This record gives sequence, structure tokens and C-alpha cells, in this order.
Amino acid sequence: MNTVQVLSEALGVSEGEAARLVRSRSLRRSRYRGVVYFSLRRDYRGLPEGSVVLYAPGHPPRLVRGYPSISRILLLERAVERHFVDRVVVEEKMNGYNTRVVWYAGELLAITRGGFVCPYTTHRLSLSLGEALRGLFADHPQAIVAGESIGLENPYPRYPYPVEGGFGFMVFDIFIGGRRLGFSERQALAGDYGIPTVPVIDVVEKTRHERLRAIVDRLEETGGEGIILRDPENRVPPLKYTTTRTNIGDIEEGMRFFFEEGRSFIFPRVLREIFKIYEERPGPRELEERWLRLGRALLQPPQASVERVEREGLLGESFVLRFRDPRVLDESLAHFARLGIRVQVGEVRSEGGWLRVVFHKPRRTGDEVRRILETGLSPLD
Ligand code: ATP
Ligand code: MG
Repeated sequence: MNTVQVLSEALGVSEGEAARLVRSRSLRRSRYRGVVYFSLRRDYRGLPEGSVVLYAPGHPPRLVRGYPSISRILLLERAVERHFVDRVVVEEKMNGYNTRVVWYAGELLAITRGGFVCPYTTHRLSLSLGEALRGLFADHPQAIVAGESIGLENPYPRYPYPVEGGFGFMVFDIFIGGRRLGFSERQALAGDYGIPTVPVIDVVEKTRHERLRAIVDRLEETGGEGIILRDPENRVPPLKYTTTRTNIGDIEEGMRFFFEEGRSFIFPRVLREIFKIYEERPGPRELEERWLRLGRALLQPPQASVERVEREGLLGESFVLRFRDPRVLDESLAHFARLGIRVQVGEVRSEGGWLRVVFHKPRRTGDEVRRILETGLSPLD
């Protein structure tokens, strides 16, 4: 089959329309081993960005829909009362990266939010949960298992959860035949095959505001990112809400590279805090404390970054990945290049059957800062 035929079949559109799509630059063509795939770079005919068409010769092409985006709550009580029907499942929102796992052409594939098959995630997931996942796919070959990949050993957002081997995966949705399973079905199915799910904190009546508030307050202390709220039968879509610790913590993290994440991070997170404070009405001491935390998050990391550029001439971050199979290192490097992520390979060593590789990722903020230190002039007005 040629590209147009593959797309026309997988998307259920005419060949003329598929040809138009190919010309439109809304699609990105990539390859993972024997699988060619096409990722949607924007929403298209009801399919979300990040949807993927997979194709391996000899197998029917397959569409994997993008993971649906989850609306955010600003006012917890108001939103929960208005949005939900009666009961609400409260799950912990895990801070990692969205991963859709599918079975195609005899292979397990891990697909990231943007619609890329990630060789590294596929590798680590196959090692840690391959057997359990293959069990599920043997009975439900068309399932999409969506979950959060977490831990420090990954090339994406890293948050220090105590997961064995630095890599974990927790399921939050299973789609079969395009249908998102209800909460109990999801729990039962994942349980049957021994696949871990996200922590379920409680199932409450939507009027129990004080309980929801207490859950969020506890997460502020334990370091959880926030909560995802679901209708047990998916009669209405899920909603998300994050802690102050996360809202301000993300700004702090993003401001290390203030010419990059800094800009886009700040406003949405400040907005979350404006309404969180409005709703919570903290006392004067707590309020002062939050103002101080926000101010510190905005200025302290950039100051440290400027000083680092002055000392070392550049700015970057490092992360560690471990591989059982050296071939996946090459595939990962090719994948980063494809995504336009500049990485340099640092120390490589063997360790208990693993290849442990340190990666350095130079950051553009370092170049901007160097220019400012040289010229004294601002790149902005
Ligand atoms: P969105 O995915 O809603 O478009 P985003 O990419 O900025 O926005 P987040 O703000 O992190 O993502 O929130 C949604 C994401 O949270 C989901 O895509 C998923 O990866 C992650 N997540 C973590 N825990 C859960 C959970 N329990 N249920 C659903 N999603 C979860
Ligand atoms: Mg996230």
C-alpha cells in the first residue's frame, strides 16, 4: 500500500482527501523499526493532535487516536458542583509524561503525547511491564493503554518518584474499540493483567467540598502534583486541578531556563494561584508566605542561571538513561535529532547488565544570557 492508501484506509477518508492531507503539512512521517507512522500535528476531522496512523507492510494500517485533553479547574468547589453528576473518583495526578501503549504488527509500541513512538519508553516499558501488557493485548489486541511514565530516567519531564529502576508506568485510561472504559472496568482489567494504575485517593459525593480540599491540602504536603477527577461511568469528561506546590514549583523549574519555558509557564500558573487564593482565602500569614514563594520562584533560579553562565559560559541540564540493548541508544539519539532536541552523550558505562548513559542538553537560555553579559543589551524591549 502507498501512503495515500494507508491514510485513506486508516482514517476512513477518500484517497483524494488523504492526498490533500499529505500535502497539507499537518502530518509528520516517521519510522520505528519495521513500522512507518504518520503523526497528526494539529486537530483534523475530530481527531486530536498527536493521533497516529501506524503501518507495517503485511498488516492493516491502524489509527491510534490522540489522548484527549483534560480541562482544568480554577475554582474547585464551583467546577465540581457544576460539572459532575453525583459521585466523583479522585485520582492522584502523576507528574510524568503521557504514554499510549499499543500492540501493532507483533510489537509493543509506546507513543508520546505528540504522536511519536519513543524508542526509549518502548524499551523500558517492555522490560518492566512487557509481559503484563502482552497478556492484555493478547485478549484485546485493539486496546490503547494510556498511562503516565514516571521517574528520573527519561528524556522528558523528570520528577523524583521513588520508582524502582528510575522508570515507572501507571495506567489511567484504557480504550477498547474507541470507548474509554469506566472506572471499575479499568481497575478490573488492569488488575487482571497485573498492570499498575494511578493511585485512587477516594470516591466522593460531589458536594463533599471539605473532603476534596483536605485531599489537595494533603498533596501539598506529600508533594503530589494534583488531582484528576472523573465520573465513575464517564458520563462527563474528567477534570484536572493542581496544588500550589506544583503551580509555583513549575514556575521555579521553568525559570531556570527563563528564555525558554519561563515565558509560557508564568501566566497560566499565576492564573491558577489567583483563583486558588480567592477560593481558599488563606489567612494573612499564609498569604504573605505565598507571595514570597512566588517571588522567589520567579527570581531565584534565573539568578543562579546567570551566575552559572558567568562561571561556566553555558547553561544546560543533564539526565541519565539506562539501556539493556545498545541498539536503543542509537535509536534514541536518532529520535532526539528528529525532534530537534540537541543532546550530547557524556559518560557511558556498563552497570549490572545495563548501559548507563549520561546526556547533556545545552539550553538556549545560556546563549541569550551570554549575549547579554557581553553586550549589556536586552533582546526584548
Ligand atoms: P492536557 O494533556 O490536558 O492537554 P497538558 O499536556 O498540559 O494538558 P497536564 O496539565 O499534565 O497535561 O494534564 C493532563 C495530563 O495529566 C494527561 O495527559 C496525563 O498525561 C497526565 N495524568 C497524570 N495522572 C493522570 C490521571 N490520573 N488521569 C489522567 N491523566 C493523568
Ligand atoms: Mg503532566
